Amino acid sequence: MATLLWPFPPPPAAAKTSQFLHSSTPPLPFPKTHHPSSRKSLSEFHSSRFGNFLDLKPEAKPESLHFDLHQFDPSTRSRLDVIIIGTGPAGLRLAEQVSRYDIKVCSVDPSPLSMWPNNYGVWVDEFESLNLESCFDKTWPMASVHVNDSQTKYLDRPYGRVSRKKLKTLLLERCLSNGVQFHKAKVWKIEHEEFESSILCDDENEFKASLIVDASGFASSFIENHGYQIAHGILAEVEEHPFDLDKMLLMDWRDSHLDNEPYLRTSNSRFPTFLYAMPFDSNLVFLEETSLVSRPVLSYMEIKKRMEI
Ligand SMILES: Cc1cc2nc3c(=O)[nH]c(=O)nc-3n(C[C@H](O)[C@H](O)[C@H](O)COP(=O)(O)OP(=O)(O)OC[C@H]3O[C@@H](n4cnc5c(N)ncnc54)[C@H](O)[C@@H]3O)c2cc1C
Repeated sequence: MATLLWPFPPPPAAAKTSQFLHSSTPPLPFPKTHHPSSRKSLSEFHSSRFGNFLDLKPEAKPESLHFDLHQFDPSTRSRLDVIIIGTGPAGLRLAEQVSRYDIKVCSVDPSPLSMWPNNYGVWVDEFESLNLESCFDKTWPMASVHVNDSQTKYLDRPYGRVSRKKLKTLLLERCLSNGVQFHKAKVWKIEHEEFESSILCDDENEFKASLIVDASGFASSFIENHGYQIAHGILAEVEEHPFDLDKMLLMDWRDSHLDNEPYLRTSNSRFPTFLYAMPFDSNLVFLEETSLVSRPVLSYMEIKKRMEI
């Protein structure tokens, strides 16, 4: 019996560089491992023994953090140095860093306290160099990549799963102690003039600042003609799984499991996706099928189907 603890069906994302793309570590010699010989064996494991993941229902709703944010008061007409659009990981980190230098910052987001929807995986050394190592909820000593059915690479570089709650809490706490102000609204329009710029929000407030930073991420309406990232991810409780507990499976590009599905096989050659697996213990695993970038966006139903098969 498999239990779906949380699904991650995000909207299509404008492609941005994320930490797991920066894999420059050379492959190690092939160690002994228990990885399945193809993704077909994974799919048999998914569907016959544990039922169909697509039929599973989430048990929890995304939570919201409890903070008393300093609201920006437009009536004071006080001057802002920087307006940051978006309180995703990029926008909040920027607000936290910039506000350390007595720069007056206002972060604008329709839901500044909502938990972030995506799964964040990062190289441990990169996060440590940002002094964010307290925000991991799990690390693995190595990562692996199945390039195809006959080639697997091992990356001797620890990888970690970020606790979205810990990271967002830490950044919000630091923003509050540095005096960052917040405004809960969606930005509709950005205008630049010679000495200052302004934003117009959906609550009809208009704010001016010396600098406006667009950190509106995957739902941005300010980027045109971008590529799209899309993924379907689930956290599942299972009786057993075939993944090594000391390795995070960064990318499994194997496609032989699609041999009996000509349509999916052809479409996978055009818009390839890979499986990403974070085994937490012998009964809990996070699985995600990802299209790193495509234009037009790959359909969400198709990416779900590729994970199921
Ligand atoms: C499915 C998926 C899986 C991913 N997996 C990984 C992974 O494993 N590891 C990794 O490192 N990265 C991963 N990424 C990438 C990661 O999600 C992004 O790089 C990261 O979220 C970007 O952060 P951000 O702050 O730029 O944008 P976002 O997280 O998109 O945040 C943008 C914020 O801006 C707000 N906003 C949007 N429009 C407006 C507006 N008009 N006005 C005001 N506010 C606005 C939104 O409400 C949101 O809060 C994944 C992305 C996706 C889509």
